[in-house]
Amino acid sequence: MKTRTWIIIFSLACVLCVCVWLYFSAFLSPSETVGIYQDGVLVKQIDLSSVTQPEEITLSGEYGDNVILVSHGHIKMQSADCPDKLCVKHGELKSSASPIVCLPNKIVIKFEDNAPSADAMTGR
Ligand SMILES: [Zn+2]
Repeated sequence: MKTRTWIIIFSLACVLCVCVWLYFSAFLSPSETVGIYQDGVLVKQIDLSSVTQPEEITLSGEYGDNVILVSHGHIKMQSADCPDKLCVKHGELKSSASPIVCLPNKIVIKFEDNAPSADAMTGR
């Protein structure tokens, strides 16, 4: 009886560890690969860890231009002509849970999933 209790506790601990690990890998240390989408279409994919010098990317939309600043390990909306400027106020992209979104110009900057092969399989 005692042994069974310990097995159950041990199993639960294992499950908990896996959950914590998944949580950390998915949210706190996202992949360094960032996707820039406009109108739902992938415009550019950048591996932030391989960026050596800062680069500006300009995208034109219905409400003017969005200037995205990419540097080693960082990406942010430098400036935008959109009326609300929420994308600029968002600051740097830090978490996969909160992508940089520019609604007026339909631009989304977000970390790509850690498992691109899974996407390929589902044909997304
Ligand atoms: Zn915007």
